[in-house]
Amino acid sequence: MNFCETAYRSVIDRIEAARHIAERTDAVTLLAVSKTKPAAALRALAQCGQHAFGENYVQEALGKQRELADAAIEWHLIGPLQSNKCREVATHFDWLQSLDRTKLIEPLSRFRPAGRAALNVLAQVNIDDEDSKSGCAPDELAALADAIAAAPNLRLRGLMAIPAPAPDPGRRREAFRRMRALFETLRATHAGVDTLSMGMSDDFALAIAEGATMVRVGTALFGARSRDS
Ligand SMILES: *Cc1c(COP(=O)(O)O)cnc(C)c1O
Repeated sequence: MNFCETAYRSVIDRIEAARHIAERTDAVTLLAVSKTKPAAALRALAQCGQHAFGENYVQEALGKQRELADAAIEWHLIGPLQSNKCREVATHFDWLQSLDRTKLIEPLSRFRPAGRAALNVLAQVNIDDEDSKSGCAPDELAALADAIAAAPNLRLRGLMAIPAPAPDPGRRREAFRRMRALFETLRATHAGVDTLSMGMSDDFALAIAEGATMVRVGTALFGARSRDS
């Protein structure tokens, strides 16, 4: 087994262990976060069976998509979205996890190519009210979600958050719990909502304990990054 396979198996095992401890019967999806990593590293993981990959930067992702056009990969944009990138995102991604303002909804829906499935969308929530973070405020979420759900070529699937990097796991657990509560409210009011994307390399087990249905893991799969977002 090569390194990629060892790391991949270990992350899968840890996800399964966390599901078991939390007595979860629903699935938890692994999103492999591949920003800064070369296409060859994604290909190696895809050959291990990994299907969903998350990228932060549109131009970087498009280059890898060209190199990996023959691989069956589901592409997620997880980085902040600028309005001048709506056409490329609508054209080249399967999921957008970082939608945080209503102004982007109309162009994303309009640029989604005819004949393609709707773009799956998660609303990003700034759950710890950090100045530096993207995401809508929790009290803006209902209006944002309604607008996504009303767009013809977008499909509202749920929520994404990046809690503040608190050294104290109790603080992070509390942020995950607040996200879970927002998710349950959203799910009760919108058909088709099934995805709560939270938890990264150093806290995905905790996120699964608090109800994450998708965890976004980079470092634990690919090793440390030399530059970061
Ligand atoms: C980079 C990134 C991740 C992965 O972080 P790791 O700590 O490397 O697992 C997850 N989510 C988002 C939004 C990211 O930008």
